[in-house]
Amino acid sequence: MQEIISTTIERICGNVPGDRVLRDEPMSRHTSFRIGGPAAALVVVNNEEELAAVLSAVTETAAEHMIIGNGSNLLVSDEGYPGIMIKLGGDFESIVRDENDPCRVRVGAAMLMSRTSAFLTENGLSGFEFASGIPGSIGGAVFMNAGAYGGEIKDVVRSVGVMDPDGTNLRTVSNVDMQFSYRHSMAEDAGILILSAEMELNEDDPEKIAERVAELQFKRNSKQPVNYPSAGSTFKRPVGGYAAALIEQSGLKGYTVGGAQVSEKHSGFVINIGGASCEDVLAVMRHVRETVYSDSGILLEPEVRLINCSL
Ligand SMILES: Cc1cc2nc3c(=O)[nH]c(=O)nc-3n(C[C@H](O)[C@H](O)[C@H](O)COP(=O)(O)OP(=O)(O)OC[C@H]3O[C@@H](n4cnc5c(N)ncnc54)[C@H](O)[C@@H]3O)c2cc1C
Repeated sequence: MQEIISTTIERICGNVPGDRVLRDEPMSRHTSFRIGGPAAALVVVNNEEELAAVLSAVTETAAEHMIIGNGSNLLVSDEGYPGIMIKLGGDFESIVRDENDPCRVRVGAAMLMSRTSAFLTENGLSGFEFASGIPGSIGGAVFMNAGAYGGEIKDVVRSVGVMDPDGTNLRTVSNVDMQFSYRHSMAEDAGILILSAEMELNEDDPEKIAERVAELQFKRNSKQPVNYPSAGSTFKRPVGGYAAALIEQSGLKGYTVGGAQVSEKHSGFVINIGGASCEDVLAVMRHVRETVYSDSGILLEPEVRLINCSL
């Protein structure tokens, strides 16, 4: 295992400058939970050529690897990740308005939702307001069809630029072919990499758009524990109900293990109140799942992605 990783890192260093190949990189630096031990290496790739080369290397050596966005939906093990984490930067942080159709923009996968929202607001393009406060990247949002306040990323995305898991077959996939559903897209099943998204919006007065964004931000700040590190909603919305309501009904608001706590402000969030380990969060999640199941018969499924750990 160690040998595979060393060989892979050596190959990657032939294609990506050494200062962007970070060995034993603590994942707590790359997750909104501020939790996670070291990845064997975290590689920041700045363009399609570098990404293709890294994917070709990990495919040939069969090294464990995964791509991350802004780390806002991840819970990484205290032991870390024994493979290569790939993070997009550079060219993937672009946003360009279509010269022929002013209502269309192409956004790089590493671009943050907040920055995308700011650009669209300034340019008088409406339709993305719902997503302005989601703390992830465009790549992560497309991958899982992120949504809020009645909107989902699938509502604005026309097509997605993708690459196969082995770094080949650069192509564009239509909205329909992305097979978006609740917090899911075919990218997860196919293991493809999202490079960019073409979005279609509507022209509107920038001031009106800014007002709507501010309104939703106010709503978010007043309901969610945004002052504490977390990974957002810990559990998926079960059919016919809300995870937060079930957790509250089971009297679990404020339930704490070590540094992890069911938020007092919003019981759908497990938060890091200071120095939480991955094991603390898992212990809270297990207790919540067992208690809610015994009280309601509903088994909550995690929305947060568990990396190298399990419930
Ligand atoms: C305070 C808070 C509030 C939140 N509110 C919301 C909300 O309202 N609605 C909502 O939907 N989510 C919400 N989230 C969760 C999270 O922000 C979203 O799920 C977001 O879309 C994750 O994006 P990311 O870039 O951080 O992805 P990451 O967490 O880094 O990764 C998530 C998954 O996407 C994959 N991925 C990332 N980038 C790519 C890529 N380029 N190609 C292929 N796969 C990729 C990763 O492999 C991983 O499996 C919230 C989180 C927090 C912390």
